[in-house]
Amino acid sequence: MKFELVKFNRNIPDKELLADVRRVAAELKQDFLTFNQYEELGKFNASTPKHRFGSWSKVLEKAGLPKIRKQLNARIENEELFHNLEEVWTKLGRQPRISEMFEPLSRYSSGVYKRRFGTWMKALENFVSYINKEEKVFSEEGIGNLAVKSANRHKTERSVNWRLRFLVMRQDNFKCRNCGNSPATDQKIVLNVDHIKAWANGGETILENLQTLCSKCNIGKSNL
Ligand SMILES: [Zn+2]
Repeated sequence: MKFELVKFNRNIPDKELLADVRRVAAELKQDFLTFNQYEELGKFNASTPKHRFGSWSKVLEKAGLPKIRKQLNARIENEELFHNLEEVWTKLGRQPRISEMFEPLSRYSSGVYKRRFGTWMKALENFVSYINKEEKVFSEEGIGNLAVKSANRHKTERSVNWRLRFLVMRQDNFKCRNCGNSPATDQKIVLNVDHIKAWANGGETILENLQTLCSKCNIGKSNL
């Protein structure tokens, strides 16, 4: 049988109830709190503040949580949400599930995406169309008209930005092009993006000249 402490619910000042609601939200690193979460982690029964203030949404309002949510949402740019999604996606080696959007894997909860885009699926669709727009930019064709910069004798920069990294890995189905390993089947696998024709030998940072390698194969390559 589950051991449970008797929770004391009477004569608790409003302030104390609300402070405890905020504490649980902060501990979960959330800008909201569900009735069940509070029931599980709160110092008091969740029905106590609910009855005191009339409804659970009133409790959240009184605790100032929707205000915090607004502030948090306003601060995060779409670009930042997409970047986080890209990191989760490449670490998993596949499309993330809504149930996986937790720390440490994800810096933002699925709730943040849902509030911004409506649904989790819409968030993913927005992300994909954002990435797709970059596909031409980072191709042979895209850099065709660019001039070679005298500073580095290249048209592109050496570093691979996160949008291009995603395009390369997607092109390779999130698998090492050499050995075929993927984090989707083995969580220990870490994928990197590698210049096929080395940057030092004039290779450009474009989709056609980049490949996905696992960290083992990448090290093996540089030892050749
Ligand atoms: Zn490999």
